[in-house]
Amino acid sequence: MKCGLVAADGAVLHRETRPTPRAASDERGGGRVVLEALLETVVELSQKATADGHRVRAIGVVVPGVIDAEHGTVGAENLEWVATPVLAELKAAISDDVPIVLAHDVRAGGYAELRQGALAGTTNSMFLPLGTGIAAAMIVDGSLVSGDGYAGELGHSKFIYGDAAELCACGQWGCLETVASAAALARRYTARTGRTVDGAREVMELLAAGDPDAEQVWQDALAALVDALVLYTTLVAPTKIAIGGGLVGAGETLLQPLREGVHARLTFQREPEIVAAVLGEEAGMLGAAQMAWDRADEEGRA
Ligand SMILES: [Zn+2]
Repeated sequence: MKCGLVAADGAVLHRETRPTPRAASDERGGGRVVLEALLETVVELSQKATADGHRVRAIGVVVPGVIDAEHGTVGAENLEWVATPVLAELKAAISDDVPIVLAHDVRAGGYAELRQGALAGTTNSMFLPLGTGIAAAMIVDGSLVSGDGYAGELGHSKFIYGDAAELCACGQWGCLETVASAAALARRYTARTGRTVDGAREVMELLAAGDPDAEQVWQDALAALVDALVLYTTLVAPTKIAIGGGLVGAGETLLQPLREGVHARLTFQREPEIVAAVLGEEAGMLGAAQMAWDRADEEGRA
């Protein structure tokens, strides 16, 4: 869990990372241990803010899952949350009457890139982090699209067909995430070679050293990513796409073939600029804080 105290101007006054307990380790089930860790974190950070002489104006919490904004509940497979009443639990844990924003982690990251990062100044753009999984934050006509909590699942769109399609954690076959996530690079390299690797980072090192299996795994990822970017470009015409997550550490090794691949495929569509996201691992936390400040401002005006 990445968390912090952020001032109205976006300055990070305090930052820390806490371990996320494994939901499966809790025999009570329902991801209770994760929820308790979250509540403890929010309470302790609020106390720290007060002790440091600040006033907590709003709280932003972002999670990897499907958020029902109307009911304040979250469904998140990795956390074993099923319609978990996260907002109600947070409100009960915080004694003060402070506004709380609950949002999706990738959309929050995209919002931070939009407000203060690589997508600043755009009205049609996308933030696409390539990490353990893949999801998109879609900015369309100036708004962050949430689709009642379901939007942006480009990682779970099918781009691999036939025998090459692998079963995805989501239950479908041939999802983008099965070939182009950082986790997929390592898993697919090991499946081809029988050699265990230390994540995508080692696959990238093997690629740089000319390893043919790393090259094939990499080309499969690039081809699926180009398909995904062309589809997104054709549907919603972004002017800019910011790639984030662990894989963007590859820099131009990733970005240049994506630009060339997309350029070669487009005919009539508006061509997006493809860049690296700039906020890194803090994007979600900064987006959560930005959304919280927006809410505080709205309530201040009301
Ligand atoms: Zn999937």
